Amino acid sequence: MILLVNIVLLIITGLCLGSFVNALVWRLRQKELVSEGKGDKKLVKQLSKANSRSMCPNCHHTLGVTDLIPVVSWLMLGGRCRYCSKPISWQYPLVELATAGLFVFSYIYWPILITGTGVVVFGLWLIVLTSLVALSVYDIKYMILPNSIIAFSLIVAVFMQVFWQASSVNVAHQALMIVIAALLGSGLFYAIFQLSGGNWIGGGDVKLAVLLGVLVADPAKMLLVIFLASLGGTLFAVPLLASGKSRKKLLIPFGPFLIFATYITVLFGTEIISWYQRTFLVV
Ligand SMILES: [Zn+2]
Repeated sequence: MILLVNIVLLIITGLCLGSFVNALVWRLRQKELVSEGKGDKKLVKQLSKANSRSMCPNCHHTLGVTDLIPVVSWLMLGGRCRYCSKPISWQYPLVELATAGLFVFSYIYWPILITGTGVVVFGLWLIVLTSLVALSVYDIKYMILPNSIIAFSLIVAVFMQVFWQASSVNVAHQALMIVIAALLGSGLFYAIFQLSGGNWIGGGDVKLAVLLGVLVADPAKMLLVIFLASLGGTLFAVPLLASGKSRKKLLIPFGPFLIFATYITVLFGTEIISWYQRTFLVV
């Protein structure tokens, strides 16, 4: 049963976790810059303190409670920092709204009942989903999928599957399917990575595929993820290529396409595959 109160709670949680994603991406980037010898060491030292508060990415002024309300603060301040008046990227409210939207959509179309252990499964999914949003934002901005976020998500995804598959008739079979799905995706990407010398897909995509395989938990669904992501990537790239703007070197991160395809597959994969079988495989 879809409850309005749950939707409201999910919107609020999604907005707050979206805000967390923005802060996390920025902090991780500062750390990475320092490890590359380019960043601000003092700033990172300050950020690594347990009680460090959110700050303006430009003037580093600590933000007050009224600056931290998702979307609302951004709108109230006209998209500018209260302290230095520098414009704050529309990335901030957009990521917050997108996270809330993905949360609510997941709830409405969640493929299993959200009762009993199903509540745990759904809760763990929201954590993984937040990490997937962070990975997408990071990949779009910096063309990198941070290992730390992939590793964290993978651990949560494994726990999610433990609760999800616990009630299935043949647990060993399900576990095998998850392993095959993860190996299929990452194996295929590893081959493409090697063959293209890292030009078509990045090493991060190989690791990401392991996580996505665990999430979809089925080799057929993993193929669906790759198909949908390739389709999305192609549809996105064709207008860019046609415009001739980025003909020289068309660099599009593949991670966000894979992640969005996984999101669609987790929610609708079973239906899409059975529709495909009914339509094309009838003898
Ligand atoms: Zn500022």
